[in-house]
Amino acid sequence: MVNPRSNSPSPQLSSLLRIVRLVWEAGRGYTVAWVVLLAIQGLLPAATVYLSRFLVDELVDAIRAGASWETASPVLLLAGLMAGTLLLTELLRAALEWLRTAQAELVQDHISGLVHEKSVALDLEYYESAEFHDRLDRARSDANDRSLALIEGAGSLLQNGITLVAMAALLIPYGAWLPPVLLASTLPALYVVVRFNRRLHHWWRETTADRRRTKYYDTMLTHSAAAPEVRLLSLGPPFQLGFNLIRRRLRGERLSLIRRQSLAGLLAGVLSLLVSGAAMAWMVWRALQGLVTLGDLVLFYQAFQRGQGLMRSLLGNLGQMYSNSVFVGDLFEFLGLRPKISEPDRPVSAPSRLVSGIAFRGVAFSYPGSDNPVLKDFDLTIPAGRTTAIVGPNGAGKSTLGKLLCRLYDPADGGIELDGIDIRGISTEELRRMVTVLFQFPVQYHATAAQNIALGDSVSEPGSADIESAARAAGIHEVLTRLPHGYDTLLGKWFADGVELSGGEWQRIALARAFVRQAPIMILDEPTSFMDSWSEIEWLERFRALAEGRTAIIITHRFTTAMRADLICVMSDGHVVESGSHKDLLANGGLYAQSWTAQMEVAGGRSKSALPSL
Ligand code: ADP
Repeated sequence: MVNPRSNSPSPQLSSLLRIVRLVWEAGRGYTVAWVVLLAIQGLLPAATVYLSRFLVDELVDAIRAGASWETASPVLLLAGLMAGTLLLTELLRAALEWLRTAQAELVQDHISGLVHEKSVALDLEYYESAEFHDRLDRARSDANDRSLALIEGAGSLLQNGITLVAMAALLIPYGAWLPPVLLASTLPALYVVVRFNRRLHHWWRETTADRRRTKYYDTMLTHSAAAPEVRLLSLGPPFQLGFNLIRRRLRGERLSLIRRQSLAGLLAGVLSLLVSGAAMAWMVWRALQGLVTLGDLVLFYQAFQRGQGLMRSLLGNLGQMYSNSVFVGDLFEFLGLRPKISEPDRPVSAPSRLVSGIAFRGVAFSYPGSDNPVLKDFDLTIPAGRTTAIVGPNGAGKSTLGKLLCRLYDPADGGIELDGIDIRGISTEELRRMVTVLFQFPVQYHATAAQNIALGDSVSEPGSADIESAARAAGIHEVLTRLPHGYDTLLGKWFADGVELSGGEWQRIALARAFVRQAPIMILDEPTSFMDSWSEIEWLERFRALAEGRTAIIITHRFTTAMRADLICVMSDGHVVESGSHKDLLANGGLYAQSWTAQMEVAGGRSKSALPSL
């Protein structure tokens, strides 16, 4: 698997810059307003401290001179200014709170959009690897919160930085050495934050698979699809045990990391307290000698105290930003993945209707991560405008043909042609629009019945007449009309008022979805597996009419379905071992004929209606 992890000397800085770009893309106006307000808010604390010095000195003078309007008015003016500054600080805080929430929402949605876009764009090969799922999980779980924390960190850094510079400027008149002492007293805290956040991230990456396993247990214990088996087989306790064992270990490891971090943080805090105590003692000594005024003492105390607090949070911000940028690196690592199914440089147009047919030529294919070839030097020609059945035992490679034809995977060798055009020369979007597929395990969409069908063709958005005729062709129309709100009934139980269907009914809904898509090639994987013999015969008659003129491929292990096709190809072990019509194949006396006879005997022995299958 490609590892697009940044090789740049400073991946944290590049993550930070990319996040800043994301924030900018998510909401430009908000970002500008946010930066301006932060800068003003950064200056206000220094203004308050500065004013407090004059206020105290004026107050001392006024007390000395005795109470009168002349002595009180400068004090009142300064007090008014001070109150105005404090009010402005509160106003800005409220405005920033609102802005921050608005921006967080925008950024979160923007990042989710990017992750969703990338997840859909990446091909199935990625989904076969556990490493990819680890990445996806990290990108989804940490990146959102961490990105926001990174922005918050950048904001605080800006605001605290401005305040700190202003406070340092206030301290310089008392000694140019004061700001460097301030800085030195907080360095141990920075060291603690950076070191422990690195450790935490390392631990987080190492344990991604464990966290995903807890999610798996959680899903098994709570998901409706697993609920019947979990109850019947009493799987609750073992799954809970599995969950608890992993959680206990993860919890222990995390708490031990945090415990060590807290201890180191405490030591760093005590150190900075000692420095601040010494500086204050020095200033009090000077005040006692009459070298500075009471107002100076007040200013110094506030500026040093707050400066030290600011310095700590500033360095904390930097440390947090460092660690968040390491986590956000996971998001960019995920967003940097590239689909492996490449688009043609100069795509050729797909034929709007097939004239000669589909040809697999010398195709070799193994699933990613597997050494077992599913197809080896595989040749097959499927005639245009006819119905071809592909039969064969489980695992013969039948379903794989459909996936290769849609370019969900590319073969390692050989190629697939539509009327002589290699499908790799057609854009994947156009190619996929040519094909409609009923997968063996179709998705059950928690949407209305009509929407479930209409999703088959999101481009031409079928109307209710198209939806109904697809439902009739799939043999589900009557069932849908009996639902509480007919076609507008919500299917599935995830949302309020949803109605559950049987497995066979869901299968027919998926079939209707495949039918509603007006594509020249139809691939149906086990379309009759849920049907009893009578429905199967009735459905096949309807299907033949619907498939008229289209190139249809039916993948099946049922002879009774296959026998009605124009051409039957028998697959075994990744090869086509015979092909022809039902009659020809029976006359040949090969694998098809033997399996047919054997199955008919078994079926006849068991019940008149049992279906023969390969
Ligand atoms: P059929 O449709 O004939 O039952 P498939 O085409 O589904 O067979 O599968 C052919 C072989 O490929 C089987 O041995 C199966 O185990 C393997 N296979 C199918 N899907 C995957 C996958 N996603 N990853 C790895 N192997 C797979």
